[in-house]
Amino acid sequence: MASQESKKAGKAAVVGAGLTGMLVAHGLKKNGFDVVIFESEEKVDARPRDWTIAIHWALPTFNNLLPEAVRANLVKALCNPRVDFTPEVECLPCFNGVTGELMLKSPMPGSRRVSRQLLRQVLSEGLDVQWDKRLVDISSTAEHVTLTFADNATVQADFVLGADGASSTVRSLLFNRDPKANLVPSAYYIATVIMRHDDAAKVEPVHNFHPVATIMMGASCFVGTGTMYAPTPDLSTWSIFWAKIFRRGAFPDPPARQGAEALRYVKETTKDLIEPFQSQIDWAKEDDSTMCFIDQMKYYTPSLGFDTHGGRVTLVGDAAHPMLPYRGQGFQHAVLDAHLFIEALQKGEGLEAYNTEMVERGAKAVAQSLQEAELSVDLEGVMKSLMARQGFKRTA
Ligand SMILES: Cc1cc2nc3c(=O)[nH]c(=O)nc-3n(C[C@H](O)[C@H](O)[C@H](O)COP(=O)(O)OP(=O)(O)OC[C@H]3O[C@@H](n4cnc5c(N)ncnc54)[C@H](O)[C@@H]3O)c2cc1C
Repeated sequence: MASQESKKAGKAAVVGAGLTGMLVAHGLKKNGFDVVIFESEEKVDARPRDWTIAIHWALPTFNNLLPEAVRANLVKALCNPRVDFTPEVECLPCFNGVTGELMLKSPMPGSRRVSRQLLRQVLSEGLDVQWDKRLVDISSTAEHVTLTFADNATVQADFVLGADGASSTVRSLLFNRDPKANLVPSAYYIATVIMRHDDAAKVEPVHNFHPVATIMMGASCFVGTGTMYAPTPDLSTWSIFWAKIFRRGAFPDPPARQGAEALRYVKETTKDLIEPFQSQIDWAKEDDSTMCFIDQMKYYTPSLGFDTHGGRVTLVGDAAHPMLPYRGQGFQHAVLDAHLFIEALQKGEGLEAYNTEMVERGAKAVAQSLQEAELSVDLEGVMKSLMARQGFKRTA
């Protein structure tokens, strides 16, 4: 039964158990709300895909939203928990993709790079997540908001938060299915590869460059590599991540979006990169020890004018402002959304101010991510980029 405090605070329904949905649910729970998450996937690890996420300027806010028991487990989500986090480690070296020289070293004091999958598992502890519940409709009366799911079940809540990712159903419904709420394809593809070499000598070159992550820019593509998983001290057990962002049209379109054919395409279209970036992809094995995905990156510029069902439904995270992953800002803005949304509910002054700030900030961050993509492909552009001028700081 709900406590007096949670009854007073209200019942919140969160749609989507990605990182944003789970984080906001912890924050709501911590602040006395009765909260349930509805997630379309069947279980937390239903999809094997993973990538790394650096949390930097939003880390203090992120920590504040979590209960102590979950915070204590965050070490389990780190890509490389086996390093001393000194200033040398809490930075991202960026190499000139043409000459191989170190171009920039962006300080990221206090930052941590996590695996999305591992963090999702850590965050799922202590939450009421209803799996296999795909939201299909939202309606409301003066008393409450009703969610309808694909299995025809309905649930009522006082507040509903769309945390259902870039292709958000909640966003589409709030804009009355207007195509203007749809994702827009960018001019860029991203290929993400996670590989296990089973050979310490092949992990060492990456580890020696930086134990967490390194990037190169300015040679017509953006490439990053680093530690994905470090399960034991023995480097031969580690997995490496490798990601490349390239302009559509620079190569023939990918023949497949995942698997061995996608990996072969990435290998065939990646030549003459500086080290350690080239060897890593050359060494990726075409078997189950490698995972490869290719996507055309998409974005959506948030705008106001959506139906908030009387100030009771809104959006957070990628559902609100999906952006390109340049300078690692997407999840950090989701963290800020979560904090500001909870603060707005606590103040009891409605969600208008939250929506206005979130839309303005999100639109700026999306525009900056597109601009960074344009500037990342040649050396002249790189030096004008926010990455070169501001590093990973918050700029929206
Ligand atoms: C390669 C890459 C690198 C990145 N690096 C960084 C970084 O360094 N720093 C950073 O801050 N950000 C980074 N990002 C961005 C970050 O990953 C995202 O902003 C973040 O993961 C978004 O989480 P989310 O929970 O909002 O969305 P999602 O992870 O998409 O979660 C949405 C959830 O909603 C569920 N769902 C969808 N539709 C429905 C429905 N109708 N009903 C019920 N459930 C539904 C989905 O199944 C999913 O589980 C990166 C992104 C990529 C791709």
